[in-house]
Amino acid sequence: MTNYSYKYIVIHFGEIWLKGGNRNIFINRLRRNIADALKGTDYASLDLRRDRFMVELNEGSDIGMISARLSKVFGISWFAPAILVKSEIGEMFGAVGKLASEQKRKAVRIVVRRSYKEGKNSMEILKELLDLANRKGMKMDKDSERVINVNITDFGTLVYADKIRGPGGLPVGVSGKAVVLLSGGIDSPVAAYYAMKRGLTPIYLHFHPFASNKIAEESKIAEFGKELSGYSNGASIYYAKADFFQSAVIKMSSRYEHVLFKRFMYKIAERIAKKEGAEVICTGESLAQVASQTVKNMRASEKGIRLLMLRPLSGFDKQEIVDKAQSIGTFETSIKPYKDVCSMHIQNPSTSMSAELTDALYRKYGIAKVVQRTMKSGVDHASWTI
Ligand code: ATP
Ligand code: MG
Repeated sequence: MTNYSYKYIVIHFGEIWLKGGNRNIFINRLRRNIADALKGTDYASLDLRRDRFMVELNEGSDIGMISARLSKVFGISWFAPAILVKSEIGEMFGAVGKLASEQKRKAVRIVVRRSYKEGKNSMEILKELLDLANRKGMKMDKDSERVINVNITDFGTLVYADKIRGPGGLPVGVSGKAVVLLSGGIDSPVAAYYAMKRGLTPIYLHFHPFASNKIAEESKIAEFGKELSGYSNGASIYYAKADFFQSAVIKMSSRYEHVLFKRFMYKIAERIAKKEGAEVICTGESLAQVASQTVKNMRASEKGIRLLMLRPLSGFDKQEIVDKAQSIGTFETSIKPYKDVCSMHIQNPSTSMSAELTDALYRKYGIAKVVQRTMKSGVDHASWTI
């Protein structure tokens, strides 16, 4: 993509339009998120023009870098480097010609759209452009995949070729905050992605088996930050020691440990959520993916939790999760070796724990105290920057 002809990047948002009365809240948040994502890149301005944002570029703007940042901003449905000209046929044709010449003389197709309903209609404008193209010997093919878009607005005409897909969804932050239980595995980073896609700001929480939180902070978990924090312009992560819990349940049958450990994790998550003003807990569980993730076990583990429990991957097959992990860039980190908390890896886990049994074990092994102790001296807070 050559740089010289593009003076703008036009950014379209999709679903935000559906939000009626809250529209301004969504748009303002999206503007803030775009500005945050573009921090440190060179551009002149970011403005809302009717139903789109326009990033005005400078001479030296790096379109590749700006595009990479925009492709991680939820709420953007697509964007395109664009030329802005007066809505006058000669000018429009000049811009079309410029972009067509960048398509290495392959035949192009012109698509005209009007966001401004005055003057000539799209068909009339297309016909005039095609006539001009014909006269100048420009190759046209109505079935070509090389589209040049001509979009007439009330502030001029935007001409652009490459339409780049954004991640869709809603701007991060419009749905509040979620404590995201992040393990070292494949699933939870993908769950975090989908939570953010629906407008939740993630606050990560990771439990580890090490003697100190420092060891976890320097582990591969921090590498997730590089990929994930690009979607939320930085993020906050809590590290929590699992060892108080592990010592407390040493005499318990290990068949029950995974469910009790999850209840314990949710209780800690609830405390952190309260501190942070979050109303949601998000996990990477998928329904019945492994023996421990049965409906009964999930109900038993979450009983008594007063926050909304979200499991965005409930309906996903493992392969779909793996594919998504690869496309968002977390997969490589997920498959690096990592020492997991042993409560998550027991032989022969019960597949049908009842909530009553979980309650009884919670009392018998003094887990409420373990939660207190962990909160008091086992949790540390760190931040991820992009
Ligand atoms: P993942 O691939 O995300 O590790 P999994 O398929 O291994 O998931 P489980 O081990 O049952 O399944 O974990 C289910 C969910 O519980 C995880 O997706 C994550 O949200 C949470 N979880 C598991 N272990 C931890 C941990 N050590 N710290 C924080 N959350 C965890
Ligand atoms: Mg796991």
